[in-house]
Amino acid sequence: MANEGGIQATIEASPDEIYDIELEHSLLEANEKLAKENRALLDQHGTTAIDFMGAIGSGKTTLIAKLVEKLKDKMGVAVFNGDATTSNDADAIAKQNVPVVQIATINGCHLDANLVGKGLRKIDIDKVKLLFIENIGNLICPAEFPLGSKARVVVVSVTEGPWMVRKHPHMFLGAQLVVINKIDMAKAMEVSVEDLASDVHKLKPDIKVIPTSCKTGEGIEKVAAALLAV
Ligand code: MG
Ligand code: ZN
Repeated sequence: MANEGGIQATIEASPDEIYDIELEHSLLEANEKLAKENRALLDQHGTTAIDFMGAIGSGKTTLIAKLVEKLKDKMGVAVFNGDATTSNDADAIAKQNVPVVQIATINGCHLDANLVGKGLRKIDIDKVKLLFIENIGNLICPAEFPLGSKARVVVVSVTEGPWMVRKHPHMFLGAQLVVINKIDMAKAMEVSVEDLASDVHKLKPDIKVIPTSCKTGEGIEKVAAALLAV
């Protein structure tokens, strides 16, 4: 269509849309404040919280279960399992006899600092040195909601294909550690672990990237060491 030099189109936000933006802004601000409160409480008790983000099926639960297995005899650990609807993941980890709090978001697509704060009131925080928080399986909005953790980990698995990092830069920019999981499947999936790692480093040159397989145990020790060093 010929453009005669005038305005091609005008898009006007409805009052509702503007209201949404204002609401979102105050929501994020409120979350930020609660995240700081969570962090202060955790620090006061000498507890380190680590927040695991990643898509559904990236292997967050299994990875956390392996880390719990490795660390629970050395220090007090606890797990918060965010899940929109089921308690499958919480049940799986609770078998290891560590405190587990299921945080059901009732179809909400991310954990927030308010829910985590409620969880903190459910555990004996003095006995917990390391708290694992499993976020909802979603690679978009958890990035916007800090929870008060000391470090955020993104778990990406080779089974999610070669473009996961490029398509979700936000998640990786806000993380302190990246785990590339299910590397035992890399060949079958024809996905290069090195390429995924280099995509991460293009976004964030200094971030630690650890390839893991919960099946063979490869890399689990390194992740545990990295978490203890945060
Ligand atoms: Mg899970
Ligand atoms: Zn969300």
